[in-house]
Amino acid sequence: MPYYVILNIMTRREWKIRATARLAGTEAPAAVAALLLCHVLGIDKVALVAHSEEQVSSRAEEKLETLLRRRLSGEPVAYILGRREFYGRDFLVNVHTLIPRPETEHLVETALDFFQGREEIRFLDLGTGSGCIAVTLAAERPQWKGVAVDISEGALHMARLNAERCGTACSVEFLQADFTHPLPFSPRSFDLVISNPPYISEEEYAGLDPGVRNFEPRSALVPGPEGLEHPRAVEAAARALLKKGGLLLMEHGYLQGEACRALCPDAYWMDMRTGRDLAGKDRFLFAVRR
Ligand code: GLN
Repeated sequence: MPYYVILNIMTRREWKIRATARLAGTEAPAAVAALLLCHVLGIDKVALVAHSEEQVSSRAEEKLETLLRRRLSGEPVAYILGRREFYGRDFLVNVHTLIPRPETEHLVETALDFFQGREEIRFLDLGTGSGCIAVTLAAERPQWKGVAVDISEGALHMARLNAERCGTACSVEFLQADFTHPLPFSPRSFDLVISNPPYISEEEYAGLDPGVRNFEPRSALVPGPEGLEHPRAVEAAARALLKKGGLLLMEHGYLQGEACRALCPDAYWMDMRTGRDLAGKDRFLFAVRR
């Protein structure tokens, strides 16, 4: 007589309720439980709601359990799912790339505003990571051409994939290079230098959320003891490479507004100002090359 071992009798709804309870104390437990379900089942949120009484197969349940444990160990959801949304597009991320942050969208928006109506500009993204800045600019303005630089081969691999996925592979050139040294471009050849460089000091890093410290690449966050080492290199590169009237946009820490403006001597720069993020904190440097 055949016999059946029924490994799983949980519906999607039941799995979500249990997972939400186990995730209590972490950020947005119910939403994360739903995201994990959608990810493993390959469905969207609407399908999840519409078919919540369907059973979760034992194979899916095993996968879900693995992902749930990763989340319980503090791993950011973006790494578990392998993606994060930035400026309305989906970016692949992994351990080689910083997870794109909403603050960084301000940089993109400011660049789009500043060059409103300009058909063709040439931009340079220093420390591109997942490529979120360069790929978004190219996707929003198909006539623009850019170069995206990163020292990490792993990050550039992801940035290239993201460029392909967003249909911008022809507009963005990728270069593996250390931007703290002179870059192989003609002087005064870019309209825009944009960067979200590592800017966290060693001291500040020690106090960061463990989810950041234990999982995100330290080299994408900390440039050196002081935190301003890479911002300084970005200013030097921008000074050399921006055309007259070209724009430097650089993200920085909320306490670095004044220090970053001070990196820009009046002899080379004008219209220096500090942009704020949605929380009202100082977040990026805006400066126009003389
Ligand atoms: N430019 C990427 C971002 O904004 C990577 C930044 C970094 O690694 N410091 O997310």
